[in-house]
Amino acid sequence: CGIVGYVGGRESLDVLMGGLRRLEYRGYDSAGVAVIDDGGNLETAKRAGKLQVLADELARHPLAGGTTGIGHTRWATHGGPTDRNAHPHLGDEGRLALIHNGIIENFSELKNELLAEGFAFESETDTEVAAVLLGREVHATGDLREAFRRTVARLEGAFTLLAVHRAEPGLVVGARRNSPLVIGLGDGENFLGSDVAAFIEYTKRAVAIGQDQIVAITADAVTVTDFGGAAVEVEPFEVAWDA
Ligand code: GLU
Repeated sequence: CGIVGYVGGRESLDVLMGGLRRLEYRGYDSAGVAVIDDGGNLETAKRAGKLQVLADELARHPLAGGTTGIGHTRWATHGGPTDRNAHPHLGDEGRLALIHNGIIENFSELKNELLAEGFAFESETDTEVAAVLLGREVHATGDLREAFRRTVARLEGAFTLLAVHRAEPGLVVGARRNSPLVIGLGDGENFLGSDVAAFIEYTKRAVAIGQDQIVAITADAVTVTDFGGAAVEVEPFEVAWDA
């Protein structure tokens, strides 16, 4: 029910956990993060329960850290609220992590297709189908952005998706359909959030992603395209909100 993404110079885990706390008011049953460092070391942590359960787990088993990351709070729709069903979900043999808010309506059809090709699943979620599909497309194309376009073209329903891949450490890709996604523009850092509360502590310059659009953020650049890959001009606005 909450989504945060970050690329920049800060320890991403701090930004993610802070952002998820600010999104707690929306309600959730599980939480998770994926963090990637400059060397492409990708780590994830996820737990059913309150954010504090995840925070305690991270205190017991700290991540190495990194300046790129994605964070998620889940409101379970497909598969119960368990550690295993919590996001992120992995694809490309653990090389990519993906988070999702919403419902992928055609997930069982896609899951059957992937199962028939020999892919395995670890959760009961609709979301994992998108992670595995993205993995298949990254393998086929060698390009995360192109793979992401191919993946969202196959999905029906409502989704805000964010993904990171260890081959492209300073990049977060995202997309939305029938579910919100906002960019937070920083100086040498950029943010993504399911709403501006996710990053309001750091910046008030924001860009709302339109329906059926894809976004890619690095520390220094933000690009938005439609699902076909055509560039979309962004129109930043100032968030009228005292954090
Ligand atoms: N449908 C997904 C799941 O059940 C995402 C739910 C959400 O929006 O948090 O895992």
